[in-house]
This record gives sequence, structure tokens and C-alpha cells, in this order.
Amino acid sequence: MARILILGAGFGGLELATTLSEALGAEAEVTVIDKGEAFVFGYSKLDLLFRGASVGEVRLPYADFVKPGVRLLRETVTAIDPAAKRATTDAGVHEADYLVIALGADYDLDATPGMRELDSEFYSVAGAEKLAAAIPEFAAGRALIGVCGAPFKCPPAPSECALMLDDELRRRGVREDCEIAFVIPFGTPVPPSPETSAALRDEFERRGIELIAERRIASVDPARRVAVLDDGAEQTFDLFLGVPKHRAPDVVLESGITEDGYVPVDPATLATKVPGVYAIGDVATAGVPKAGVFAEGAARIVAQHLLAAIAAGPEPQRHLGQGTCYIEFGEGRIGSVDIDFLSGPERTGHFNPPSAEQTALKEKFGADRRARWFGR
Ligand SMILES: Cc1cc2nc3c(=O)[nH]c(=O)nc-3n(C[C@H](O)[C@H](O)[C@H](O)COP(=O)(O)OP(=O)(O)OC[C@H]3O[C@@H](n4cnc5c(N)ncnc54)[C@H](O)[C@@H]3O)c2cc1C
Repeated sequence: MARILILGAGFGGLELATTLSEALGAEAEVTVIDKGEAFVFGYSKLDLLFRGASVGEVRLPYADFVKPGVRLLRETVTAIDPAAKRATTDAGVHEADYLVIALGADYDLDATPGMRELDSEFYSVAGAEKLAAAIPEFAAGRALIGVCGAPFKCPPAPSECALMLDDELRRRGVREDCEIAFVIPFGTPVPPSPETSAALRDEFERRGIELIAERRIASVDPARRVAVLDDGAEQTFDLFLGVPKHRAPDVVLESGITEDGYVPVDPATLATKVPGVYAIGDVATAGVPKAGVFAEGAARIVAQHLLAAIAAGPEPQRHLGQGTCYIEFGEGRIGSVDIDFLSGPERTGHFNPPSAEQTALKEKFGADRRARWFGR
């Protein structure tokens, strides 16, 4: 049996390993490597910030990821040799017949002067945990939610953060003493979906949230409590909730397989320019947004290619870049957008307004993956 090495046990790596295990059973020779001890859904960061969840409650330990034919090793990848399909880790060297890079996107705090010193981002678990302690203290002044560069994970997340912060301040009766503004590098909150963007803009207007579109945070000055935008304009803040600039992890950049910070792939197949090497999810440039649902969709296509090659599986399908992203509209309401980026000539995003059905579907999204990957 061919040896398959998957680097990264996030949305993409977990789904790929699960699909291969389902198809090949104990015969599979799949090794998954991740430096972490547990998986956390991206959206759980909003639960940490605004729903009083603890890190312990949102962690899904890798010890519970048990699949026939799959080994999940807790190691840190320190070097990747794509041509040799070899990864070096802090524990040794792993060689394979097929290599899949699924290491996600890292945060580049140093790309934005002042961001490291300010230490006020909500996109990592540690950052969200820290800000969760600061938000209850904020009762007057200006909250600024700011994105430092595109592409960034889950484009609706800054909008969700603004709306949930508004809820929280209203709940405490201090909203009138606070301003909320947010800065995004796009012209609209969810560019592929005018309907979703219009619904979010209505919501911002109704709640008095200021949207500063088509701008990014160029630097922050922690001493003056000011963020400087890319056009030189200054935005003051008393509370800053930042989205750092993203890029592929250093180990991927150093492997020589990236262009413009990410791994270029054939959008239809997720194949890199190196035969037998694929890249899926946030680490790749595959013509889709950076979100778990797309990492997962890409993983299923790569599984088909691997099964066709090693187990006479059927002809692989084309990667269509389709998926549903759920969006918190505040007040417990959840809507969603059905994204389709690659199936036709146009990128589309169909809006499903907030409803009890959408809330149930988001709950099911998490529950299905907890059950499928972690048996919970
Ligand atoms: C606030 C927020 C809300 C979000 N909401 C949603 C949502 O509602 N729906 C949605 O679909 N997506 C959402 N996302 C985005 C989603 O979390 C990511 O797009 C998704 O996790 C990407 O999957 P991936 O497999 O590419 O990478 P990841 O899930 O990031 O996994 C990469 C893995 O690689 C590991 N790794 C990295 N470097 C190394 C190394 N050197 N050695 C070993 N292991 C390493 C990491 O530990 C990690 O486990 C959200 C993100 C945020 C921040």
C-alpha cells in the first residue's frame, strides 16, 4: 500500500485522513502530523469571546481521533522536501509516496508594525481567550475591529465580531457610551454575495456600527491607542480586536513551494507543481476563500485522486469550490451564505437569511464533524 503523509490535522487534514480510512480501512498507510494537542473549530473563537465558553470546552483532543489505518503523530514539522515527499519533524524524518500539505495559514504579527506589542487579536485561541477577559472591562469609548490584510480566514468573521460585541454592550446597558467601528479590506462585508452584504450593512446601520470598507490596518500605535489605515487616516480605539495578516507557515515558505506567500495548486485537482504533492485548505491558493468548509471540500477531491491512483478508485471529480458559511447576525440569529466559486464562470454567494433552520444547521455542522472525526 502506498504511504500517504498528511501535514496538518485541521479541517483539511482530518477530513482527508477520515475519507481515506473509510475507503481503505486498516490497509491504509496514512500518517498525519500536527504540532497541536487538539482541534478547535474557527468559529469557537467567537464562543470564547462572547458566549463565556472556556478553552477546555471548545477543544477536541486528537487522542479521540482514532481511525483504522491512520496514525496521528504529535510532532512539529521543521522542514519539507516536496520533491522527495519527505518531512522532517522535531522527532524524526517521514517519507511517503504521496504528500499532502494541510498546514493552514499562520498569523504574521510582524507584518503590521505595533501588532505584536499591542497583542490584541482574536483570530488565535490564545488571542480570543485574552480578549474574552478584556471585553467585560470595556464599558465606554471606541471599539475598533481591524483587518490587517487579505486574504484572511472566514471573511464574515469581523462582521460577526462587530454584531456580537454590539449585543454584549447592549446586554450590559453600556452601548450608548461606546462606539463600534470596523475596518475591512473589501468593498463589502461578503464580496461574492451582494445579498449577504446588504443584510449585514442593514444590521450595522440599525445598530450604529461604522463600517470602514476598502481599507486595512497598516500599523497600530499602542501608546497613542491609534490604528493607522493604508490611506494614512488614523482611527482611535480604547479596545482593539485585530485580525492579523496571514501567510503560510514558515516551514512551508522555506520549502520553496510557495508563490506570493501560499502554495499554488491546480484549482480543479489541488495538485501542486511537484508530482504526487497536493496542498489543501488555507495554505493553498486554490481560488476559494480561506474557510474550513473549503479545506474539507478540497480534502475530498484529493482523497479521490489518491484512491484512483492507489486503489483503482473511480475517476476523480473536479473541485468545485462550494460550501456553506454560517454567519452570526447577533441576538442569537444565524444566517448563511452558499458559496460557489469554481463550478461556473461567475463566483456566486446565495444568502439564506437568519432563521431557526439556519441556527439548527450550524449546530449540525459542528455536531456532524465532532462525530465524524472524534466519535463524540
Ligand atoms: C474567528 C474565526 C471564525 C471562523 N469561522 C468559520 C466558519 O464558521 N466556517 C468555516 O468553514 N471556517 C471558519 N473559519 C476558518 C477555519 O477555521 C479555517 O479556514 C480552517 O481551519 C482551515 O483549515 P486547514 O485545514 O486549512 O487549516 P487549519 O485548520 O488551520 O489546520 C492546520 C493545522 O496545521 C498545524 N500546523 C501548522 N504548522 C505546523 C507545523 N510546523 N508542524 C505541525 N503542525 C503544524 C496546526 O496546528 C493546525 O492544526 C473561522 C476562522 C476564524 C479565525
